[in-house]
Amino acid sequence: MNYISTRGNGGVTTAAGAIKQGLAKDGGLYMPEKLPVLEKGELERLSKMSYPERAATVLSKFLTDYTYDELYEDCSEAYSEKRFPGGAAPTSALGEKMRILELWHGPTSAFKDMALQIMPRLFVRALRKTGEQKTALILVATSGDTGKAALEGYKDVDGVKIAVFYPVDGVSRVQKLQMATQEGNNVQVYAVKGNFDDAQNGVKKIFSDPEMSRAIADNGYFFSSANSINWGRLAPQIVYYISAYCDLMASGDITEGEIVDVCVPTGNFGNIFAAYIAKQMGLPVGKLICASNKNNILTDFLRTGVYDRNRLFHTTMSPSMDILISSNLERLLYLIAGSEETASYMKQLSENGVYKVSDGVLAKIQSDFCGYFCDEKGTANTIKSIYNGYNYLSDTHSAVAISATEQYLADSKEKAAKRVIIASTASPYKFASAVYESLTDKPAPDGPAALDALTELTGVEITAPLAGLDKKTVRFTRVIESADMPAVALENTK
Ligand SMILES: *Cc1c(COP(=O)(O)O)cnc(C)c1O
Repeated sequence: MNYISTRGNGGVTTAAGAIKQGLAKDGGLYMPEKLPVLEKGELERLSKMSYPERAATVLSKFLTDYTYDELYEDCSEAYSEKRFPGGAAPTSALGEKMRILELWHGPTSAFKDMALQIMPRLFVRALRKTGEQKTALILVATSGDTGKAALEGYKDVDGVKIAVFYPVDGVSRVQKLQMATQEGNNVQVYAVKGNFDDAQNGVKKIFSDPEMSRAIADNGYFFSSANSINWGRLAPQIVYYISAYCDLMASGDITEGEIVDVCVPTGNFGNIFAAYIAKQMGLPVGKLICASNKNNILTDFLRTGVYDRNRLFHTTMSPSMDILISSNLERLLYLIAGSEETASYMKQLSENGVYKVSDGVLAKIQSDFCGYFCDEKGTANTIKSIYNGYNYLSDTHSAVAISATEQYLADSKEKAAKRVIIASTASPYKFASAVYESLTDKPAPDGPAALDALTELTGVEITAPLAGLDKKTVRFTRVIESADMPAVALENTK
């Protein structure tokens, strides 16, 4: 299977090449030349398999330069009982219609683990398959969840070093502690003075500076990234939608071939795009419900065809969805409008911050997707009503999706599928303060004490990786100016 760029001028590469390189040379994102399909009877076969077997089977359709045995070995380790106690992607019923797909049982308690536990293994194989001699220096700018998940995925991986930059006042106390206490011999964590954009621009500048690339090459290194535009992060996300369908089939909750709707709390459009690919492969999915918080740029786009980032940025209690540029939307545009039109939309976005897709493109997108959003009050109310109504404790991001699903069900009535699979992307304890405040209308205690308060209030056990966080050794305390990021990055190659 060959991989090509969404913008049409990035050449052709293998899966290993795409995973090693991240971004295509023309600035576009890598996509498989042709999407594989689920064969007749395959869902039935998959439903009898373990999660690692399902993952290896689905991934082998996309990563054809990896053998099934290689993929199975990697998936068995990545999705082991040790890393995902109780199973990688369990579902839980919320009443008649809603089925919560819990994607946060991994080492960092957010869904990023589903991709970042397997991607480092695929990446190391990619280095070998492409004959790479140098060590990779992975730089990550993070607003919270990605940084920790990447650190945990790449720690002590041979041939790789990783440095994470987070905005000093732009992540939660829990997120900061999670990163500051990171273990591993090849990891570094820096707090950057400024906001997330300062950290991200710093990393982008380093990546695009040929002097920097030369300097680290002299020391035997090359730069790489771990962000969600890498195909190695996207492909593993396709698996859990197929797996959830199989689980519902196996338990008799749905019959084989029955249409389900899927709702995903969306930021960069990666997770929901993976669900779309699963549908294109033949998974019986009806509507894809794109859930946004107060930063509802995607809701507007899906309703009007206008993507306009010239708007206020809101800081919300679901920070991983506080995004104005949803990078992976480019992949959807490519599949629907082709590379030439996509390149033109992306040019308009970078020059004017806005583009409008043609009516034909919008109609095609709307045949698969719909968009709903939920503001801060709505998120808090949903956390409360779901807890009171179903005794289910939801995190802030998942609550946005539950609210979107409720709005969708009210709008579409009998046109909706009998079941809606809702992606739940974080443990409620990862955002314990906001969840506590939503339930009680009272301020939560500061930092890790909020976790204790929440478990006292609800009796729901603290998600294991977050328990005892305040007792772990703090290893990283350095605070740097964003101007010093290049020098600090270089230190890692000496
Ligand atoms: C990253 C993240 C999201 C958004 O996922 P995208 O793939 O960027 O759409 C949603 N919820 C949580 C908790 C996340 O960490």
